[in-house]
Amino acid sequence: MSPLPNMIDPFGRHVEYLRVSVTDRCDFRCVYCMAEDMTFLPKRDLLTLEELDRLCSAFVDKGVRKLRLTGGEPLVRKNIMTLFQSLSRHLVSGALQELTLTTNGSQLAKYAQQLADCGVERVNVSIDTLDHDKFHKITRWGQLGKVMEGLEAARKAGLAVKINAVALKGVNEHEIDSMMNWAHGEGFDLTLIETMPLGEIEEDRTDQYLPLSLVRRRLEEKYTLTEIPYKTGGPARYLEVAETGGRLGLITPLTHNFCESCNRVRVTCTGTLYMCLGQDDAADLRTPLRASESNDEIYAAIDEAIGRKPKGHDFVIERQGEKAAVGRHMSVTGG
Ligand code: SAM
Ligand code: SF4
Repeated sequence: MSPLPNMIDPFGRHVEYLRVSVTDRCDFRCVYCMAEDMTFLPKRDLLTLEELDRLCSAFVDKGVRKLRLTGGEPLVRKNIMTLFQSLSRHLVSGALQELTLTTNGSQLAKYAQQLADCGVERVNVSIDTLDHDKFHKITRWGQLGKVMEGLEAARKAGLAVKINAVALKGVNEHEIDSMMNWAHGEGFDLTLIETMPLGEIEEDRTDQYLPLSLVRRRLEEKYTLTEIPYKTGGPARYLEVAETGGRLGLITPLTHNFCESCNRVRVTCTGTLYMCLGQDDAADLRTPLRASESNDEIYAAIDEAIGRKPKGHDFVIERQGEKAAVGRHMSVTGG
């Protein structure tokens, strides 16, 4: 157990899960996530991999048990495997229960075995469609074939895979059934996500938003869905699908608020701590990180920030053309 006081917010929630966006850059430009012509942070603003390690380790000292690296695309950050390798010492010591990542899968064929060697046991891979042309349209720059090679490599390396798919009105809405059958047939869990109003993109989010309550009702016409208490530490609620024997996760920030059980905080690649994905309040951890070699100032800054963790977000996608609820993109805060 950590020798320091753990992180408990004003609503009594224990913060044990940290997501770290190790880069805001990506080799895809998914239509719901980024504008095609994105301006990324200057490289000099980023924390080095050594600084990211120190920051993550400070959170482990503060009681984080589960660490997820994300982005942007975490696997496009140069030398990212050195960060996984160094963080794996916390798995070996038992301080950390899980080290994992969310990836678009484009580089997974190259890195799956190395990830497994670092003690990573599960990966979340985002795939919104199994149609090659549609995949290219949604991601603008991605190739589904490369991602499929990544999944094969993950399987060979013994990594458990969860597929994440954003439910998109008129895009993959009639494919969810076949995606579920494919994922469960491959032995993968499938989690569906509602689009969240994060960052300005070129399209209108009202056109993209598909409530998962509707998706669920449609699936229930064909399948027997039973709610199960299965938890991975994230915000998904799980259903068991009797006909496939697989699990279906639902992440429903809009139709069902999951904030009451929130155990997460997020850090960006510049060392900004966001206590809630859906709120702007943040704390700068880069300054205390660089101020001294001791971690005391970082611990103090974390404690102060956790004391301000808000009760929840207030995403709404109702009015046509409404601006993003939060100005920063998901790729900055990390999904
Ligand atoms: N690049 C990696 C990937 O795509 O898996 C990791 C980062 S990405 C921001 C993490 C997850 O957030 C992905 O599953 C993506 O589909 C999802 N995402 C991105 N923008 C979103 C939005 N506006 N609403 C809901 N989910 C979003
Ligand atoms: Fe990149 Fe992931 Fe955003 Fe797609 S969802 S643009 S893969 S960060």
